[in-house]
Amino acid sequence: MIAISFSLLGDLPALTGAPGLRHRVLGLPAQTSVKEALEDLGIPHTEMDLVLLGGLPVGWAHRVRDADRYEVHPVPDATADRNADLPWLQARLQPRPLARERFVCDRHLGRLARLLRMLGFDTLYGNDWSEAEIARAAARDGRAVLSCSRQLLKRRAVAAGRLLRARDVDTQAVEVIRRFDLAGHVNPFARCGLCNGLLRPVPKSDVAVRVPLRTRSWCERFFLCERCDHLYWEGTHVQKMRERIASMMAEAGR
Ligand SMILES: [Zn+2]
Repeated sequence: MIAISFSLLGDLPALTGAPGLRHRVLGLPAQTSVKEALEDLGIPHTEMDLVLLGGLPVGWAHRVRDADRYEVHPVPDATADRNADLPWLQARLQPRPLARERFVCDRHLGRLARLLRMLGFDTLYGNDWSEAEIARAAARDGRAVLSCSRQLLKRRAVAAGRLLRARDVDTQAVEVIRRFDLAGHVNPFARCGLCNGLLRPVPKSDVAVRVPLRTRSWCERFFLCERCDHLYWEGTHVQKMRERIASMMAEAGR
């Protein structure tokens, strides 16, 4: 066995089993990679961007040696990443650019998937999808995986993702907007919350028979999902949704 220590920066300590500790010492079998050692602590590779040994960067495959002391940096928000002059840019561990607009949510995040679709983002979700299926969908389309499951995000096939810290769905969306630099790309009501299909405006006369009489008398704007044919109209719930989005955007810009 060998003993190594990690100095964890940012909110990384909170992702381990002992959130109060910034410095962790591990006893490990020889031949362990730095990625295996860090994921053993509970931190998926999607959450770390730079590992330094003696002030110099190492890659995921680097084999740890006895008495090594590593400094581990979290993934910056994509907005900060775009604006900042990051040290060791070439040695960063996350694929660049950090910004993404396509996602796949794990099977516990149905509410987040619907919300991201309502914000206009291409988001896959199935309440019966296995972790292997989610990882495959992510790899196939270059999607970032959004999850509360460390095991899912530790999978090799997951190149980009986010371990969601919040439990509240609006706060989760704010995390996603910040992490993937989406503030300038929000396009409310471009997608169907139910199936991820694109919405297109339709004339009232085309859909009038499907609209309750009371709504038909005052509502003029209608949208149809191209995939599942669900009909949306700009009712009072849309105004509430706009207010909710405004509050999320304000939080994301803070
Ligand atoms: Zn639909």
